[in-house]
Amino acid sequence: MEHQNTGRILVAGTGPAGLIAALGFADAGFSVTLVGTEASGPDSRTTALMNPALKVLERLGVLDGLRPMAAPLKVMRIVDATDRLIRSPVVTFRASEIDEDQFGLNLPNSALYPALAKAVAAHSGIEWRKSMVETWHLDAGHVHATLSDGSEVTALLAVAADGRMSPAREAAGISTSARSYPQAALVLNFEHRADHAFTSTEFHTETGPFTQVPLPGKRSSLVWVVRPETARELLALDDVSLSTRVEQRMQSMLGRVSVEPVRQIYPLSAVTPRRFAQDRVALVGEAAHVFPPIGAQGLNLGIRDVDDLIGIACENRADPGAAKALASYDFKRRPDILARSSAVNLLNMSLLSDMLPAQLARSAGLGVLGGFSPLRAFFMREGLRPGSGFAALAGALGKQVRR
Ligand SMILES: Cc1cc2nc3c(=O)[nH]c(=O)nc-3n(C[C@H](O)[C@H](O)[C@H](O)COP(=O)(O)OP(=O)(O)OC[C@H]3O[C@@H](n4cnc5c(N)ncnc54)[C@H](O)[C@@H]3O)c2cc1C
Repeated sequence: MEHQNTGRILVAGTGPAGLIAALGFADAGFSVTLVGTEASGPDSRTTALMNPALKVLERLGVLDGLRPMAAPLKVMRIVDATDRLIRSPVVTFRASEIDEDQFGLNLPNSALYPALAKAVAAHSGIEWRKSMVETWHLDAGHVHATLSDGSEVTALLAVAADGRMSPAREAAGISTSARSYPQAALVLNFEHRADHAFTSTEFHTETGPFTQVPLPGKRSSLVWVVRPETARELLALDDVSLSTRVEQRMQSMLGRVSVEPVRQIYPLSAVTPRRFAQDRVALVGEAAHVFPPIGAQGLNLGIRDVDDLIGIACENRADPGAAKALASYDFKRRPDILARSSAVNLLNMSLLSDMLPAQLARSAGLGVLGGFSPLRAFFMREGLRPGSGFAALAGALGKQVRR
């Protein structure tokens, strides 16, 4: 054993959720040990973060440096591009309808992750062990992690930000329900002739969504969900052929398209744990929820996990890993995580389904949303922050009653 450390908080995992958790706990005055290696390899993905998540990044001091690489999201559109009998009208959400300047920002992961890692490295309240947790031992009073470099870390609370397979979740004996989808996401960025006007368009197709999200200038990012074999075929195309396919799929909405070199494939799956905390281990990010990339939900939800966990730890400073604190965390996160996970999974399944009732429900739902602006405003506010749509609706109803 080389080192011994009794940190109060051990954060396992150095994806975005882990880095944000380490920074947030350290800023809240906890002594933090972060365990995980630095990210390596190209990541062409971008992450659309909504305004409440951006406020968290701002608080952590990383947002200003990222703004030049990010594009604001002012309009979000859903287009039914299926060939099905029952099709939905185009639904357009405008930030201005709910008195916001933008819904959020689209940030390249290649800028976001290094900015977070740099802030962690510079933070005096964080000890970063660039190693992996090899084994966990949990007892009534502490968590003990043995790392692959031979060192050990002991803490009162383990924040499991160790991704979809989460070894910490397994060590805490938290079981999951999991499914894999017959879908994969092809991810790339592209240039286009026409202006995107800060509009993101999600085309719903029979194999999943095709989502264009603006980047600075005449560039956009793309997440194209197709069957796994189609993803492999598209990946193997030369640039000109793939550019033509992307342009055709978008009905030339942004004019001539030119794809950039890095292309990646992500298989789609869903994982929902039965509990969100147990035995001094609290789950955040993909350790707590995995679902298809529809409607930019994943990391936004992950940041809310971290924010709520820090709030509860601050109310239980003497022992942030105590059973009472973990029960509060489970209780607080459960409705948000389950509602988001089931909405995204249902929408995804309704796209794949050949069954008329599923198509009808999706079409009717989008039809009602498209035609009724108070309901659309409600969903936009709920999309930004759970509960705020209800608050605004209650306010509007109150005004009606007082008139
Ligand atoms: C194509 C695509 C597009 C997306 N777009 C958006 C979007 O626009 N908006 C949005 O909000 N979300 C989006 N998401 C979701 C978002 O990317 C995820 O929610 C986010 O990356 C999850 O981060 P994480 O830190 O929880 O997990 P990960 O990034 O998977 O990080 C987990 C980390 O844990 C580490 N780890 C594992 N085991 C151990 C161990 N034993 N010891 C130490 N470390 C360990 C891993 O090495 C890894 O670094 C998208 C996802 C995909 C696939």
